[in-house]
Amino acid sequence: MKPHLIILGAPGSGKGTQAAGLVKAGYCHVSTGDLLRAEIAKDSELGRRVSGILSRGELVGDSVVLELLKANCDTRSKGYIFDGFPRNVAQAEMLDRELLAGSSWIAVYFKIDLDVLLERIVNRRTCSNCSEIYNLVSKRPVKEGTCDRCGASGSLVQRKDDTKEVLKKRLDVFSNEIESLIKFYKSKNYVEVDASREPEEIYKALMEAIAN
Ligand code: AMP
Repeated sequence: MKPHLIILGAPGSGKGTQAAGLVKAGYCHVSTGDLLRAEIAKDSELGRRVSGILSRGELVGDSVVLELLKANCDTRSKGYIFDGFPRNVAQAEMLDRELLAGSSWIAVYFKIDLDVLLERIVNRRTCSNCSEIYNLVSKRPVKEGTCDRCGASGSLVQRKDDTKEVLKKRLDVFSNEIESLIKFYKSKNYVEVDASREPEEIYKALMEAIAN
């Protein structure tokens, strides 16, 4: 079985885009942000509880996210990409203990200058039907407003938390936690990828980094 990949990186650093490529290479992708947004879309009890937290760009409680993650992956039978989890050292310890015990894994940090991200994120659009990610500057759909992948028209939407104000909060939350997370993983199994490059180059570097 492939080693699990724990992807660390700021909002907009390309974790979701790269995960889509890795899925084609046989990985399962689990994004805690996607799981939480699905709960909100379903209007479940959990979704109602966390909706305000996401719209403010704050973090949902560690144990809530861990339970959601556990319910949505089977780490014993498949190689997973963890996208958006862990967000802090407490979550990293939970992941280690509850989901990765006895498995092999690598933590990959998508390193990028935070100033580059603002423009990337405010231009990000996601297909509400199949979750394909676009960028109005660097990865436009062939037909405006229509998803190249699933063909749904009028489906390309901006995430509610991809506005400048909420993004600033999300980047602050990220900056506060990332150094301790890197320290945690550096003493274990850790690689860095330059995430400021084009998606194809990042993918190549990622493949090389995890093959070594
Ligand atoms: P993302 O899609 O990873 O950018 O996550 C969107 C939002 O979901 C974050 O701003 C948080 O409010 C929430 N979220 C996602 N993953 C986590 C996590 N591991 N811990 C706490 N909150 C999370």
